[in-house]
Amino acid sequence: MELNQASNEQLRDWEKALTEEYQRYQASGLNLDLTRGKPSAEQLSLSDEIVEILGGDLSNQANIDLRNYGGLDGIAECKALFAPVLDVNTDEILIGGNSSLTLMYFAVLFAHSQGFGELGKSWLSEGNTVKFLCPVPGYDRHFSICEHLGIEMIPVALNDDGPDMDEVEALIKGDSSIKGIWCVPRFSNPTGTVYSDAVVERIAKLGSIAGSNFRVFWDNAYAVHALTDSAPDVASLMAKCKQFGTEDSVYLFGSTSKITYAGAGVAFMGMSKANLKAFSKHLGMTQIGPDKVNQLRHVRLLKDAEGLTAHMRKHAAVLKPRFDIVLQNLEASLAGTGMAEWTAPEGGYFISLNTLPGLAQDVVRLAAEAGVKLTPAGATFPYGKDPENRNIRIAPSVPTQEEIDRAMKVFVNCVKLASVRQKLAQA
Ligand code: PLP
Repeated sequence: MELNQASNEQLRDWEKALTEEYQRYQASGLNLDLTRGKPSAEQLSLSDEIVEILGGDLSNQANIDLRNYGGLDGIAECKALFAPVLDVNTDEILIGGNSSLTLMYFAVLFAHSQGFGELGKSWLSEGNTVKFLCPVPGYDRHFSICEHLGIEMIPVALNDDGPDMDEVEALIKGDSSIKGIWCVPRFSNPTGTVYSDAVVERIAKLGSIAGSNFRVFWDNAYAVHALTDSAPDVASLMAKCKQFGTEDSVYLFGSTSKITYAGAGVAFMGMSKANLKAFSKHLGMTQIGPDKVNQLRHVRLLKDAEGLTAHMRKHAAVLKPRFDIVLQNLEASLAGTGMAEWTAPEGGYFISLNTLPGLAQDVVRLAAEAGVKLTPAGATFPYGKDPENRNIRIAPSVPTQEEIDRAMKVFVNCVKLASVRQKLAQA
C-alpha cells in the first residue's frame, strides 16, 4: 500500500501488524550483520593459490633480489598488470604496499604539509583553510582522512551520473582554498554510481579552473568489480587529462583488497611522471621499498588483464546472488509504498537506500534492537552528519544468502514500521 494513500485507521492497523511482526523478530534472537564491506571467506578462498604460488621461484624481469630493500615504485611486471586497471601507462604507476587508503592518506598529508616540490607549494603554506569537495553519500574513510588533517569538507550531490558538476565547478571557481575532491568513479561506495563520460571529461578539466595545487583524488577501488559482463565502464581520466593538459592535477588509486586478500593485497597509484617523481620523494621518507615478493605473487596468480577478468567473474558469481536477495526483498516489500528508494548497482560492494527524511537513525536503531546490525546512519556523510537523516548503506558480501534473506526481512519491516509511525505522528 502507498503510505500516503492510507487512512488513519489503515495506518493504525498497519502499525499494529508491523509491530507484532517486529516483536517476533526481536524474540527470535537474531545476530546478523550487514555492515562489513569486505570480502567473505568464500571470496578470499578464490585466491588461496597465492600462498604457495612462488614455490621458491623469485625470478623476475629485472632479475633483482626481491627479498631485499629497494624498488620504491614496485616491480615492472606488477606495473604492467595494474596500469590498465587505472588506464595509465606503465611509467605512470607506483605499486605500493597492501593498502590504497595508506597511499591516499600520504598523498593528502604530503600535499597538505610538504607540497609538490617542483610542481608547487604545500596547501598549508597558502593559508590555514584547506577545503575538499565530498560527493555524498560517500566513503567514510575519505572523510576521516580530511577530518584527521583538519581539512574542511564541503558536501556536493552525487547524481546518477556522478558528482553534480555544475555545483562542483561553481564552488571551485569561487574558492581557491578548495584543494581536492574525492571521487569513486566506478561503482561508488555506497551508491554503485558509475560516472558518465561527460562527468569524467568535466572532472579532467577541473585542474584548469581550480586555484593552485588542486588535485582530484580518483579512488577507483572497484575498477574491475562488476557483477555482470554488461556493467558500464568508466572513461579514462588520465587520457582526458592529457587532452586538456591537466595530467598533473589528478591522483588515481586502486588495490587488490577485493580481488585477492583484503589484508595482504597490493595497492597502486597512477599519476603523471612529474607527480610520480615528487610523490616518490616523500614516500621514500616512510619506507625503503614495498613488499615486492607479494607483488610477484599477484603477477603469478592473476597473470594479465584476461586472468584478472576471469578471476573477477568468480567474485561476481559469489556476490551477485547476495545483491539479488537484497534487491528482491526491497522490491517485494517496499516498491510502491513511497517509503524508500534504493540503488541497484551493477558492481562494487554496497546498496544505498534512502528512507523518508528523518528516519535513517530510527531504522538503524530498530534493526539493531531486533538483532540486525547496519552501518551507523550518517556514516556516509562528512562529519557523520546526514542532513536529511535518510541514507543507509547495505553491505551484503559477508553474510550467507540465508542470513541476508533473514536480515532483509527484518530490515524492510523496520523501514515500514518507522515510516508508518512517522506518518501516524504527523496525522
Ligand atoms: N576506497 C574505497 C572506496 C573503499 O570502499 C575501500 C574499502 O572499503 C577502500 C578504498 C580501502 O582500500 P584499501 O584496502 O586498498 O586500503
